[in-house]
Amino acid sequence: MVQVKAIKAFSDNYIWCITDSQSQLAWVVDPGQAEPVLTHLKDAGLTLAGILITHHHYDHTDGVADLCKAFPGIMVYGPSNSPFKGITNTLSEGDKVTVFDTEFAIIHTPGHTLDHICYLNPALAFTGDTLFSGGCGRLFEGNAEQMQHSFDKLKQLPEACKIYCTHEYTQANLAFALAVEPNNAELIEYAHWVDTKRSNDEITLPSTIAVEQKINPFMRSDISGISQNIPTEYQNKSKNILQNNEPWQNFAGLRTWKDHF
Ligand code: ZN
Ligand code: FE
Repeated sequence: MVQVKAIKAFSDNYIWCITDSQSQLAWVVDPGQAEPVLTHLKDAGLTLAGILITHHHYDHTDGVADLCKAFPGIMVYGPSNSPFKGITNTLSEGDKVTVFDTEFAIIHTPGHTLDHICYLNPALAFTGDTLFSGGCGRLFEGNAEQMQHSFDKLKQLPEACKIYCTHEYTQANLAFALAVEPNNAELIEYAHWVDTKRSNDEITLPSTIAVEQKINPFMRSDISGISQNIPTEYQNKSKNILQNNEPWQNFAGLRTWKDHF
């Protein structure tokens, strides 16, 4: 099984570095900056073998060109419908990518952007800016219905699956989650743990599907206690709501509420 380490980038991004125990090779996920990756690889004595991209945003792709210059011929996997031009191996829903001994299934997860994909293995998943710990990505290009469907796919993962998302947004996400579910005891306990971690400048990731099912309002949007708590002003105000009483309406209400939180 592969090992995954975080390389910090920008103010709150993590570039995930994947290695195995047999080689001095590494893969990175969403290198928005080349410099921290090059420093990490040099310090660890690693050679870059490939790059996985979840979506086109600059904070996930701007380091690709310089990394390809430093390691000519490496593979850059990314979504087939991406506006980002640096992808050498395009991926669509149902495709597979093998990194060392670990196979990842590709799912298309539009919502944050239209090109967004996630890389799934039963033991670990790279969810980019789709599923965050305690939250979900903003709807820049897609709509709530698409994001709800993307979450439905992620909900199929085993409970023990580790969630590697791109941003350290957990603490802010939990402040919102607590507004949604002030009496969720597991959420309160998790928020304390996260506060301690962050006050020591420690990472809160990876999370797991089991944790997210207990604390993430966007994983729990179908729970009746949650829908009742969404303020009326944020219901039926999301973009692209065409009909009432669709299952993703709670999700849409939550996302709009979070946008104003
Ligand atoms: Zn993004
Ligand atoms: Fe991002």
